[in-house]
Amino acid sequence: MTHRTRAAQPSARSLRTGDFGDDLVPSRRQYLRLKAQYPNAILLYRLGDFYEAFDRDAEIVARDARITLTSRSFGRNGRVPMAGIPHHALNEYVSRLLAAGHTVAIAEQLSEPGKGLVERAVTRVLTPGTVAEAALLPANENRYLAAIAPLTDRIGLAWVDVSTGEFAALEIDGSERETALAEELARLAPAECLVPDDQTHPPVSAGRITRVERWHFDPDRAAQRLRTHFGTRTLAPFGCEHQPAATAAAGAILVYLERTNPALLPLLTSLRTELPGRRVGLDAATRRNLELTRSFRTGGTRASLIGVLDLTVTPMGARALRRLVNEPLRDLAEIQHRQEIVAALVSASEVRRRLEQILLGAGDLERLTSRIVQGNGSVRDFLSLRQALATAEAVIGTLQASDEPALRALAAETACCTDLAAILERAVVEDADGARIRPGFSPELDTALATVQQARQFLATLEQRERERTGIRSLKVGYNKVFGYYIEVTRPHLARIPSDYVRKQTIATGERFITPELKEAEARLLTAEAEIAELERAALARLTHEVTARVDALLRLAHWLARLDAFRSLAEAAVRYGWTRPHLDESDCLEIEAGRHPVVEALLDGQPFVPNDCRLGGEHPRIVLVTGPNMGGKSTYLRQVALIVLLAQIGSFVPARAARIGLVDRIFCRVGAHDDLPGGQSTFMVEMVETATILRQATQRSLVILDEVGRGTATQDGLAIARAVLEDLHHRVGARTLFATHFLELTTLADELPSVANAHVAAIEHDGHVVFLYRVLPGPADRAYGIHVARLAGLPSWVADRAESLLGEPPSRRSARPQFSDCRFARSSAAYQLALPGFPDGSDVAHALARDLIALDLTQISPRQALDWLFAWQARLRGTVTEGTA
Ligand code: ATP
Repeated sequence: MTHRTRAAQPSARSLRTGDFGDDLVPSRRQYLRLKAQYPNAILLYRLGDFYEAFDRDAEIVARDARITLTSRSFGRNGRVPMAGIPHHALNEYVSRLLAAGHTVAIAEQLSEPGKGLVERAVTRVLTPGTVAEAALLPANENRYLAAIAPLTDRIGLAWVDVSTGEFAALEIDGSERETALAEELARLAPAECLVPDDQTHPPVSAGRITRVERWHFDPDRAAQRLRTHFGTRTLAPFGCEHQPAATAAAGAILVYLERTNPALLPLLTSLRTELPGRRVGLDAATRRNLELTRSFRTGGTRASLIGVLDLTVTPMGARALRRLVNEPLRDLAEIQHRQEIVAALVSASEVRRRLEQILLGAGDLERLTSRIVQGNGSVRDFLSLRQALATAEAVIGTLQASDEPALRALAAETACCTDLAAILERAVVEDADGARIRPGFSPELDTALATVQQARQFLATLEQRERERTGIRSLKVGYNKVFGYYIEVTRPHLARIPSDYVRKQTIATGERFITPELKEAEARLLTAEAEIAELERAALARLTHEVTARVDALLRLAHWLARLDAFRSLAEAAVRYGWTRPHLDESDCLEIEAGRHPVVEALLDGQPFVPNDCRLGGEHPRIVLVTGPNMGGKSTYLRQVALIVLLAQIGSFVPARAARIGLVDRIFCRVGAHDDLPGGQSTFMVEMVETATILRQATQRSLVILDEVGRGTATQDGLAIARAVLEDLHHRVGARTLFATHFLELTTLADELPSVANAHVAAIEHDGHVVFLYRVLPGPADRAYGIHVARLAGLPSWVADRAESLLGEPPSRRSARPQFSDCRFARSSAAYQLALPGFPDGSDVAHALARDLIALDLTQISPRQALDWLFAWQARLRGTVTEGTA
């Protein structure tokens, strides 16, 4: 196997295979032998309380893990560079090395020190995609190892999360398979990806590439390996019997794990073969532009969809929710099934609240199971497992007792591992003595513990007894590492020592003795203590075995709990943010009434968000051109439509008063003026590549969001391209499309093409200042307000004035748009805001009044409601307006 990693390349002089001659001291020879087996990894060699790296590895560890570089003498072999990681801080430093792109091999001590050269072997190799330790992983995200198997006419993709046991594969064929692969990789964002060593251009979105020899991807060998691993005669149960590329990719993963960390293999209890096309297609640019899991600007999660949506209470629930968001579905029945569960959780508020409290106790059952199955479970881990199983039982009971049929059906989908819970109940306990193996589980351990207790008791009372026996009041019982336990008598009393005292050591103030009885108690103590450690290990191994035997059921239960937490979070979001259940169908119609952008609304921090409608497809136009001022809310509107569709297709409620959604097969979201300099593409190139992708791939069932496309080049070229793109979308593709643009020239298309309509985001202007209303209204905008927004952004006034004069407009120009003749516009520190006479400048109340008034749908309210509205505002204003000025 060849790895292309940045791991150390040891010098030929020090590491030539076979160059471990007699002139080397044994420990150096052992180290070099191990290192030769892992030439491309950083070898961390356990030496007492440290994991040491030597030679070139030491220099790399010092640099990338930020550790002091020292040196160590190997006797006659001289000194070599050394960097040591304290054993208790291994995880922290290893995560730094992995983040820097290295592979790390850990050589553990296999025999007890003290009896010649300690035996050592590499027990695991950590690569970015095979890390299973929870401490090295982000709690709320899956970490995938992927493998790509390119066959002549198809591509196989497999992925595994070794910390949760998820193992899946799919096969893609057809002429657009490379694009489909890129989409899958964008969804998975693998930390590491295996490809055949002769593959020249692996996809850029594949994460860190590890090249392995091509035979790993041989479909027949891979099938054989998978059958052996799962103990089945065929691969039919896993759905990949006739999918050679998917099989090849999954087989490559299996071989890689066998080589790097075989302890992970029991976690792979099944393989799920997915059908391509089950999910809504979302390419990397769309995911980024819709800010599903990360904010475009900050890179953090807070200002992303998941930041608003994630109200889960367990890490595994948070991961499940991310998967839901990343994988909206196309199948109506499947989405409706989820919707039923979410709706049931919305209406059963008591059940929802109870689940929130109970689920907290489930912790991270997925990763806990993984840790235990790898043999790293502590007594505390088994206690946590016991608690998680009790939690699962309570959760199932709560769902079974609910009035909601969908929740009772959900409970019937899983089974609690009651036999394992019973075993753990007998096996572990936490009391005043801490977490420990429960008395009775291992009689040998109980005996050893009793022996230790008796021996300690004997030694504790020995001093008093010997003082009474000898009459020497200053007699002491002590302990040191060389002689063990002893009795110490000071010089003046030496004449009174009994005959069974055996002298062991002379000290300045007297003598130290042992007695046969003392030595016997000490031997009993030491033997029993050593036994206890061994017996505890055996008890944990027994429990590990019990868990491993049930790993399949346990992981299924964990996944079920995780999904339940994710659904509960969707229901909680629906209630908390006032969302509604959308109506879904197979039509090509999209109707949203009073839709909101979930993230912008949350970030407005209590300021009102102005809801807007959207009608696309069906009897409505298929393409809507949105114009209006910069900062007017176009992008927000476009994205909110896409997010509402996406939320609906994951089974969630949506931020709207009502929504009818004819399912989409793909969502494309493009924002102009964004470059990819690391990828070697200019702003305009990125824009055109992305637009080309849409025109090639969008179908009549797709939703296309184009924000300012065609702006990265000369105006005339951009305009021509934008028009040609729109015409193609209209004539040939037929996708439902929202197109935001500043090219007001394009708005005439609505007169020429039957399925194109105009909309604009409304703004009003006074004294040369613009106030955004964020209302999407029919018809085109009449101007762009670019210079007004430039003023808001702090463009020096002389520059803005000059710009206006270049446009041929006096700086104080008034537009023909609606004016509030009795209002003035005050400039607050942050923005221009509407103010009324008597209000302090930038008054929130004035602003709220203007917003409320504009948002009022006069066609929908009765005269009585209008009057109520006026009364309410009058009362509010009377309490607020400055005395004497109103
Ligand atoms: P540009 O043309 O300069 O890209 P834009 O028209 O796309 O601007 P947005 O980025 O959508 O404008 O909106 C600018 C800001 O206006 C948002 O960050 C948000 O704070 C506010 N905003 C947008 N829509 C609304 C709304 N419906 N209700 C309240 N505030 C909104």
